[in-house]
Amino acid sequence: MQKLALIGLGASGLFALKELAGANVEVHVFDVGPVYSKRYACPIDQGKLAVCPPKACSYCAPGQSAGSWNDFKVILSASPVIGGRLFELVGEAELQKCLNKVRATILEHAPVEIPVVTPNLEDLEWIKKKATLAGMTYHYQELLHCGSDNAPAINTSILNEILAKGPNIVFHWDTKVASVIRQNEKFVVAYDHYRKPGTPQELISDFCIVSVGRGGANWLTQQEFYKDLDIQPGQVDIGVRVETSCYFTEEVDKRFYEPKLYYRSRHSNDVVRNFCSNPKGFVTPENHREYVLVNGHSKMYEKSENNNFAVLVSKTFTRPFKDPQLYSQTIAKIVNMLAGGGPLIQRLGDLRSGRRTKSLANNLIKPTLEAECGDISLAYPHRILEGIIEYLEALDKICPGVAGNHTLLYAPECKSYPDSIKVNKNMETDVPNLFITGDSSSWTRGVGQAASSGILAGQGVLRRLSKEEIPTASPLVIPVTSVT
Ligand SMILES: Cc1cc2nc3c(=O)[nH]c(=O)nc-3n(C[C@H](O)[C@H](O)[C@H](O)COP(=O)(O)OP(=O)(O)OC[C@H]3O[C@@H](n4cnc5c(N)ncnc54)[C@H](O)[C@@H]3O)c2cc1C
Repeated sequence: MQKLALIGLGASGLFALKELAGANVEVHVFDVGPVYSKRYACPIDQGKLAVCPPKACSYCAPGQSAGSWNDFKVILSASPVIGGRLFELVGEAELQKCLNKVRATILEHAPVEIPVVTPNLEDLEWIKKKATLAGMTYHYQELLHCGSDNAPAINTSILNEILAKGPNIVFHWDTKVASVIRQNEKFVVAYDHYRKPGTPQELISDFCIVSVGRGGANWLTQQEFYKDLDIQPGQVDIGVRVETSCYFTEEVDKRFYEPKLYYRSRHSNDVVRNFCSNPKGFVTPENHREYVLVNGHSKMYEKSENNNFAVLVSKTFTRPFKDPQLYSQTIAKIVNMLAGGGPLIQRLGDLRSGRRTKSLANNLIKPTLEAECGDISLAYPHRILEGIIEYLEALDKICPGVAGNHTLLYAPECKSYPDSIKVNKNMETDVPNLFITGDSSSWTRGVGQAASSGILAGQGVLRRLSKEEIPTASPLVIPVTSVT
């Protein structure tokens, strides 16, 4: 039987594996994280720790496929701008088919009924008018919000179904793949135990699916085959996590949960957008070991009185600079340095007045994350802050109160995206039998499309096994901006 190495069992890896369960190929799955049933919820959420440990636990650092374990919001609409760029690669109908499959799988395995948020016609009319008057563009999406608390049960149940169907699968948990090297038409996959290395081993495989996420993007660039891939540099998003009263946003929360609203800044013509809204949610640190970012999540049962969401400014770079990740990490490290090691928090009113926040004792909005009060403008470029302030002032026309002085801004909230890799409609690269899926391919930005790309790759391997032709790789098209 031919062998396949599946590297990374996050959102895309899991759905690729689902396609391959029971197929005529021996699948070896590698993931640095522990078996799903042993993965734990964030210790801060559980009340077991007050702050992130200096060495991040594997909860949100690479190792636990963050988005399908943390918050677990899934965009279900095939959109040309939201959630990734698969629309460009496979077209609307094919993408929607994959997203429908993801939706059906998650709902089937959910331990409780999870409502699908679908805007109705009246809501759409309402937001279109409000957004236009505010100078913003609304992008339609259907959404499934599973919540961090339901994530372990859903993922474990999907994996159990795969296990029952797949005697052809061998798991290598707690295992890091060190390298993938081509040997004639095969791949030599070198791996070792992640936490206790010292017993390196090798697998020779006929196919390889690389689904290592954004956390593995840097590793990917160091692989032997990488120089033969057709790539374009990725993009960065620099922004803040906004925390405000849930009463200011309740109208849009009730109608949409998270409306995707785009804005072009007057200052620099940059694209500014919201991302990852968490009505009645909590702001959390996202510990990347060398720097700490902020993030947010919400739960199905425990609620706060705040809403948090990111406002991000997108940037791509042209020659000679080609390391957008380094750029965003450097900004994050400067913020951490000013804050004594973690995130900074500042009132919007103080940012606008050019002064640091000293205390939040009398602030209307009480923070859900303890962070150092300070001045974000000492670390962030002016054009980024101008874009954020303009965005919030436009949003205030839809959600009155949001741009008030008491609204809190946490930094750093930075996202960087890997290089965009040329692939065909089944996520196969120019290297035959090498598939790169999910966020590590840069074609996806969220759980829904990452899982969809896994489905496409799984189907691609099945086509290869049956010797069916796959159309050649798509030309590389760099998007204006694609968002989650
Ligand atoms: C804190 C956080 C919250 C998020 N919340 C959401 C959300 O609510 N909704 C949403 O749509 N998106 C969310 N995202 C984004 C989402 O996580 C990603 O878009 C999605 O998980 C991408 O799926 P993937 O399969 O490409 O990668 P991942 O899900 O990241 O999986 C990659 C896997 O590869 C493994 N791996 C990496 N390198 C190696 C190696 N060398 N050897 C072996 N294994 C390796 C990792 O352990 C991991 O399990 C969030 C991201 C973060 C960081």
